[in-house]
Amino acid sequence: MDLTIISTYRCDSRCSMCHIWMHPTDPREEVSTLVLEKLPSGFDNLNITGGEPTLRKDLAELCDILYPKARILEISSNGLHAERIIPIIKKYPNVKVRFSLEGFEKTNNKIRGEDDGFNKKVQGLKMLQEAGGTDLGFGAVIQDDNVDELVELYRFVMLNKFEFATSALHNAFQFHKGDNFPYNREVVARKVEKIITEMLKTNNIKNWFRAYLNLGLIEKILGHDRLIKCTAGDDFLFIDPWSDVYLCNVRNDLLVGNLKRNSWQEVKSSKLYKEKVGEVHSCSQNCWMVTTARTAMRSKIHPSLPKFQVLKWVLRNKLKVNFGREICFDDYINFNKIHKDQNVNIRESFLLQKGVKRVITKADQKHYTQFDKYDNR
Ligand code: SF4
Repeated sequence: MDLTIISTYRCDSRCSMCHIWMHPTDPREEVSTLVLEKLPSGFDNLNITGGEPTLRKDLAELCDILYPKARILEISSNGLHAERIIPIIKKYPNVKVRFSLEGFEKTNNKIRGEDDGFNKKVQGLKMLQEAGGTDLGFGAVIQDDNVDELVELYRFVMLNKFEFATSALHNAFQFHKGDNFPYNREVVARKVEKIITEMLKTNNIKNWFRAYLNLGLIEKILGHDRLIKCTAGDDFLFIDPWSDVYLCNVRNDLLVGNLKRNSWQEVKSSKLYKEKVGEVHSCSQNCWMVTTARTAMRSKIHPSLPKFQVLKWVLRNKLKVNFGREICFDDYINFNKIHKDQNVNIRESFLLQKGVKRVITKADQKHYTQFDKYDNR
């Protein structure tokens, strides 16, 4: 099973598609080392994320506790404080690090509201490379505002010998906004085809399967059903900064327990847990984030193998690309059926806006402002 630990909702980026930064957690309430010690070992991918995890002063301690519990320990960061990760990488060179990067300088900084964000991230990841890091990369959220430079960005990342993961705009209760829809679904989706072809051209097996993940992103962007059913609760879980355990980070009604009050075993064996996992099987949300997609692509026989349908698609299209033939995406995706949106708001940049109001969410208030279930299409 994969586990994501949302270690904090403090964040010093000001992204247009995620308003966590307007609702920071109080550090005294954030999931503690004592709570995380309760976790068993044997996780596959264990991701420390946020908000921005490097804002936690005890990040190195979190890694000491979690590193032995997982096959892969990952830190997902905005990349503005790489120096805080150097001691961790020196101790555990194979910790996976992903920095969010939405484009080259102008685009990244505009979308993420970051002064000089692009340069800081690139220099930062190079510092981690020099410190001995072996699994370093960037992650981008595909959207109208960056899709034109995605292929160039991918080439830049490959040239610098980093990994490149992609996701697409999503809505989720933790983002404190529910209007993350593409302005023009078809335009964005068609441009993702190019990155898929580019990934299949490489000799990197990981990239071939990322190509399939991007095929799923096209479905997501067009508002179609998921390529493969979700396995939330069976294959992945999320723990939020208040130690609440959720089956996923999209639906706030899939809360299954609290790791402060209960043991891991109590949470996993509860009646509530079983009931909520049952609800996942009929979930109509079409989310396709890295965690939810990667786990769905895995074989039931052995988690390090892909599902047969994934393998078949990858091999077939890898061969096509190798022989210089075009992939006909219309064979796989129905471009005649595109979800129609109402009232999609333009996502504003917070780059030049100073002093945007931040709201400290109090423990006796609701933690999340997105309480209605929405259609994530
Ligand atoms: S498909 Fe449903 S249960 Fe699965 S991650 Fe998305 S919202 Fe959660």
